[in-house]
Amino acid sequence: MRRVSILGVTGSIGQNTIDLISRAPDEYDVVALTGAGNIDQLAADAVRLRADVAVTAHDDRYEDLQAALKGTGVAAAAGTEALIEAAARPADWVMSAIVGAAGLTPGLTALEQGATLALANKESLVCAGALVMETARVNDAQLLPVDSEHSAVFQALVGEEIAAVERVIITASGGAFRDWPLDRLCHATPAEATTHPNWTMGQRITVDSASMFNKALELIETKEFFGVSPDQIETVIHPESLIHALVGFRDGALMAHVGPPDMRHAIGYALHWPERRELPVARLDLAQIGALTFRAPEPERYPALALARQVMARGGLAGAVFNGAKERSLDAFLAGHIRFTDMASVVADVLDWAEGQAGLLDAAMTLENVRFADAEARRAADMAIAKRAGATVESVRG
Ligand code: NDP
Ligand code: MG
Repeated sequence: MRRVSILGVTGSIGQNTIDLISRAPDEYDVVALTGAGNIDQLAADAVRLRADVAVTAHDDRYEDLQAALKGTGVAAAAGTEALIEAAARPADWVMSAIVGAAGLTPGLTALEQGATLALANKESLVCAGALVMETARVNDAQLLPVDSEHSAVFQALVGEEIAAVERVIITASGGAFRDWPLDRLCHATPAEATTHPNWTMGQRITVDSASMFNKALELIETKEFFGVSPDQIETVIHPESLIHALVGFRDGALMAHVGPPDMRHAIGYALHWPERRELPVARLDLAQIGALTFRAPEPERYPALALARQVMARGGLAGAVFNGAKERSLDAFLAGHIRFTDMASVVADVLDWAEGQAGLLDAAMTLENVRFADAEARRAADMAIAKRAGATVESVRG
């Protein structure tokens, strides 16, 4: 039996992972499941999958979780330390599917115990790419991509040499506002931004798709995961979301990964790697699809892409600053403090501010320094948000 843990089990990726695992219950021994606010789902999954322990990230939900698990034989725990302890429990395969920078430390902990880490949490690589890759290397732990584009690149590279790669093209749906007139974007509401044309995902990544901050994170993720240079990475809008990525080789060949927009493919690939097993995903009828279309992303519509280029060129801890500022801007947009188009301008301001902070971006990439840069970026973002909202920093912190 393979021992598996799922960090962020109550989310969209977590639930898709459970869907696959529960189809072959005899093959998996579920060690730890973690969630945050959704206690009912966490407890139900832990009981159904007979996990050893269920952990909520929220200290103040311990009693609720304990009550929900009473008499079931599943242990309950709560808080940040308990989350790390869960990730440290011996397992063969760990899914990293917490949303945001909060997923970094548990993911590193899982790598430190030598588990294979299926990485959906792209923020880990954006904030601390070199640290994550190095932690995997020194612990001889396998890191596997789960983001659909990166899984696609990974699959296109099987049997190939990275030196033969000329370019990597990751596709983008263009998000909810790809066809909106530009001058309407500043009026976009959170409800409109949380509707994705092709994928069903968590709320935060769906808004990040509309703003292309998601693709911005993925450009950085591509650089960190595959070790290619920024000028080798391209992105193209592909409204059908059927080609997830393409790898271009030095002989001019492009290898594309084509499949339906269903995360169970990338999750299943990471679960069964290096084998390919049957998966419950739809098979494409190409004749019925008829045509696949592509177009260049407009820089005015998607300023996040240029910010990602700036971050990659800057290096150091710029990714941690970028992500921290992005997370706060997203919170502020969802809370109604700033407009959709303000998110990119807040992040741009914070990156500029960080340049002026002696040593912040050039500090060594340790977990402590990454956390510090993240916290400083959030503080600076709150000030930029308050300025735009015409409110106090305390009130926008909520
Ligand atoms: P969701 O918002 O659906 O789920 C997030 C998970 O993280 C939930 O289990 C949530 O718990 C938990 N969580 C939230 N905040 C914290 C915290 N502070 N500490 C610990 N756990 C927390 O996200 P998704 O499943 O959509 O995304 C997860 C990750 O995968 C993200 O990094 C995303 O970018 C990436 N990803 C997602 C894709 C998708 O299709 N959804 C595709 C590619 C990548 P609870 O719900 O109980 O509060
Ligand atoms: Mg993706």
